[in-house]
Amino acid sequence: MEFSISEKIKEFKAELGENVDLVAVSKTKPNQDLMEAYDAGQRNFGENKVQEMTDKSEALPKDIQWHMVGHVQTNKVKYMAPYVNLIHAVHKMKLLKEINKRAEENDRIINCLLQVKIAEEDSKYGMSPEELRAFLKDEKLSELKNVNLKGLMGMATFTDDEAQIHREFSVLKSLYDEVSQEMPDFDTLSMGMSGDYKIALEHGSNMVRIGSSIFGARK
Ligand SMILES: *Cc1c(COP(=O)(O)O)cnc(C)c1O
Repeated sequence: MEFSISEKIKEFKAELGENVDLVAVSKTKPNQDLMEAYDAGQRNFGENKVQEMTDKSEALPKDIQWHMVGHVQTNKVKYMAPYVNLIHAVHKMKLLKEINKRAEENDRIINCLLQVKIAEEDSKYGMSPEELRAFLKDEKLSELKNVNLKGLMGMATFTDDEAQIHREFSVLKSLYDEVSQEMPDFDTLSMGMSGDYKIALEHGSNMVRIGSSIFGARK
């Protein structure tokens, strides 16, 4: 039997409980599907393309919190700066500076996560642990008053080897615990997608990004 989107939302909320945030990743899906999730109480939606997210944000209810979960090109930041709630995949200073500049223009403070590369695949963006430590020590950070660094995000390798996924998430959790000590606003560890969120939860994820298990497979 096929479960409806609203049933899936309720199921996930019950499973995740109060301490884990659910980001419903709605990329490629029509507004009607997002509204079905919205009517079931979902307010956090994730997209991976700025243009698509902006179109949806204009058409859909204003109390939706929009998460940019994908790789962001610097020249696209200005389009989402007026409304984006959390940018998950900041991987370099140049991008963070641009987010800060556009946030300032909009008189906002934009929440960001730093993406760490934990997967073996070359295709995944993100900083190495060493780059992250250096990044957080960079003196330029304290000048960026319109961004708020809230935590880390990572994607595990797409593999059937569960031991490897465990290893990768545990690396990210240790790093999160380590750097959180110096970062008072850190409270978010975004890890886990449809295929691996249960493993991510075992390693202390408090924000999961679920697409296909809610909305069905993407074309
Ligand atoms: C698409 C996407 C997701 C959701 O993936 P599913 O496997 O469909 O749950 C999560 N995070 C990021 C960064 C994505 O691009």
